[in-house]
Amino acid sequence: MPQRILIALGSNVHREYNLPRAVRLLRRDPRWRVLAVSPVYHSPPVGGKKQDPDFFNAAVLLETDLTLEELHQALRQIEARMGRVRTDDKFAPRTIDLDIVFVQGRKANLHGSQLPDPDIFHYPHLAFPLADIAPDWIVPGTSTTLKHIADALRPSAQEIYPMTDTDILSRINAFSHYGTDQIFEAEENEVYDPEFEALIRKILIRIGENPDREGLRRTPLRVAKAYDFLTSGYTTTVEEVVNNAIFHDGCDEMVVVKDIEFFSMCEHHMIPFFGRVHVGYLPKGKVIGLSKIARIVDVFARRLQIQERMTNQIADAMMDILEPMGVAVVVEASHLCMMMRGVQKQNSSTITSAMRGLFRKDARTRAEFMNLISDR
Ligand code: ZN
Repeated sequence: MPQRILIALGSNVHREYNLPRAVRLLRRDPRWRVLAVSPVYHSPPVGGKKQDPDFFNAAVLLETDLTLEELHQALRQIEARMGRVRTDDKFAPRTIDLDIVFVQGRKANLHGSQLPDPDIFHYPHLAFPLADIAPDWIVPGTSTTLKHIADALRPSAQEIYPMTDTDILSRINAFSHYGTDQIFEAEENEVYDPEFEALIRKILIRIGENPDREGLRRTPLRVAKAYDFLTSGYTTTVEEVVNNAIFHDGCDEMVVVKDIEFFSMCEHHMIPFFGRVHVGYLPKGKVIGLSKIARIVDVFARRLQIQERMTNQIADAMMDILEPMGVAVVVEASHLCMMMRGVQKQNSSTITSAMRGLFRKDARTRAEFMNLISDR
């Protein structure tokens, strides 16, 4: 049985860089699914020396089949990868802290520490982000929710506030909220992902370039950011983008959304292919906000793809979340890797389709859909 678990994050060394990076590594890990990420809170150090830098704190809700011990080990590995050295000083400055603090619905014990972590009752920097993403979780054996705990701590915690700085927010949210411009820019003195940037630098040298010349100086950073964005589908789930925007409705007429723009990269050459997606479904009690369909497309487009698989994945995702009478997906795309070689003529496109349920069984339903999307 998968368990839902809350993880507390904290950083006060290069925190603008380390906190978003930890969220990215968590999102990118196949051993669990990140269901929610809290806002980032700014907080003064607790119990430490006055001169210690302030913290960024956040919380992540994830779902996993791992045991608590396995999850604990996995989080320690991520910390180590991010340069964390654990000492006995509970309040020492740290690049990143990833702590299991709460398992939904039960008490637990991890290396002699109790869960839920008793610290959540005392420290607003822990309680606030947890309450943002799991307000209704009840402390086992009580009737106290995380929201109650956070509300009780609020009057004494004016120094702890959510960040509204757009830079940190875009770094964290670029992977769940689409369309931010900053992710293709390089800020002065910005640090993003030195490991990845070093790889891009090697590619530049390998192709005969000088990575230190003015125009290329910040290219590795921009490429790292662009790739994170272009492959953000790996770290985003359909559940997360749909975010409960499914409505119950008696409507049983065909719903068609056409001309959804998408940009993807072919998995054979890592070169873009792009075009339009048309989606239709026949509801059976459940409908979804139209803008969410475009986001579902992005979840699958922003990965290394082949067009056929992407088409099927979009159709299957729609079937899963809406359980409709049927789904139809048609994708028209131009592949740069073919166009640049002259294999594909400039104006031709590759068309793929995936039909599920009634759209597959019933030729008239299918014809109605095809008619609607070709009607321009
Ligand atoms: Zn290709």
